[in-house]
Amino acid sequence: MTLSPSSRATVRDFPPERGLWVAGSAPVPPPARRWSARQKMLLLLSAGTLSQYSLDVLAVGLSGRALAIRLVWAVGMAASALRLDEQSASNVRLHTALQSALASLSFIGLVLVTGGVGSVYFHFFPCLPLLLCLIYPQDSLSASLSGVLCGVGVASLLWVEGRPVSEVLLWAGVVVTTALIGAYGASQFRQVQRAEAEGRLERARREALETLAISERRRLHSEKLATIGQLAASVVHEINNPVAFIGANLDYLEHEVLSETPASREELAEAFRETRAGIERVRQIVADLRGFSRMDEEEPTECALADVVGDAARIARLRLQHVARLEVDIPAELPPVLAIPRRLAQVLLNLLVNAGDALEGRAGAEVLVTGRQEGARVVLRVEDNGPGFPPQVLPRLFETFFTTKGPEKGTGLGLALSRELVEQFGGTLVAENRAEGGARLRLELPVHPRRIG
Ligand code: ADP
Repeated sequence: MTLSPSSRATVRDFPPERGLWVAGSAPVPPPARRWSARQKMLLLLSAGTLSQYSLDVLAVGLSGRALAIRLVWAVGMAASALRLDEQSASNVRLHTALQSALASLSFIGLVLVTGGVGSVYFHFFPCLPLLLCLIYPQDSLSASLSGVLCGVGVASLLWVEGRPVSEVLLWAGVVVTTALIGAYGASQFRQVQRAEAEGRLERARREALETLAISERRRLHSEKLATIGQLAASVVHEINNPVAFIGANLDYLEHEVLSETPASREELAEAFRETRAGIERVRQIVADLRGFSRMDEEEPTECALADVVGDAARIARLRLQHVARLEVDIPAELPPVLAIPRRLAQVLLNLLVNAGDALEGRAGAEVLVTGRQEGARVVLRVEDNGPGFPPQVLPRLFETFFTTKGPEKGTGLGLALSRELVEQFGGTLVAENRAEGGARLRLELPVHPRRIG
């Protein structure tokens, strides 16, 4: 689309004060200025200070000097409100100090021009530091500075009037004391504020930790599902076998029962036994897989390694049966460890599936799982006679998402997650190459505390 010269918009059509202009859109008004509570209060006080000139008139009649002092004071406050930048701590501190000095000096001037020691305002000297603490509670500086200035101011006024030293000291003492009380109140206020901020921070930290825990649980779950996915093909094959012979047996039984010359009772009973064994096999496979895909929140318990390794090996055999010979040597008398059995079995399953992947297509492939007690620890070794770990792979094995298997087959989470789980149970998981060739994963777990000693 082209624009005729008369319809073309120029920069001048959208001067800055009309807001930003984006091609194809209506002008966007500039963001409205937002005043902070402190800025609003300063502006309000500025107006109040000026309007209190009416009190000066009531006290001493029209006074140009009093008006001039109030004008300087009010303008100073308004200017401070405009220049205040709450984001910068040093800016706020500077304005607090300036306001405190301005208020104290203006007040001293006001007392001076409205009658000195006899002024109606004279008795408000001790109040000024306290008022400044209310306005600037974040900083003890306002009270201290005002205390010093008002203390010197009140003492000078009394001294000039020729009042006795005791009276001078009394007034200066009262002003300084109220300033100290104000500074103390301000520090208490800051402590409460700090405690509240820490509380907020702690709440945010706890929420972040909860979110982390939830995503960690999800990660664990997807890793489990990934392991199950890798096994799926073998599982289908494993279930198809018994299902096929259950079907064949049922055909045979149907045929025999309907036949005029049925097979002997022993033959029929044998066919029933085989069929039941097939169904039992399918049930076992399904039960094992269901156990691994659960997301139960479990507490570590006394855990017999022979059972855990047995569970993992039963499922891993689905993967390994056409790839390698699996040998398990876990003495029944091995002391128990403190762990979550299902999680520990998941770790072993990961290691066994990895061994199966490494051994794929190799003649004479073997996987050996052994368990031994070494002092107060139980050591499980998962070894294979595959290619082992290349030197560039070995240091990165436990990195999350590190895989050499390609995105279709590997997630690179198995070993990282396994180590994390083992460490949760106070154990360690390390990888090494065997001297005779092949990989070795060494899993160490502390013996269950009740079985030590
Ligand atoms: P993934 O199996 O998804 O690749 P893992 O964290 O389980 O993720 O394994 C990371 C890498 O460690 C594998 O990609 C593989 O290169 C290597 N690995 C693990 N176990 C063995 C083993 N038994 N033999 C050789 N290499 C292995």
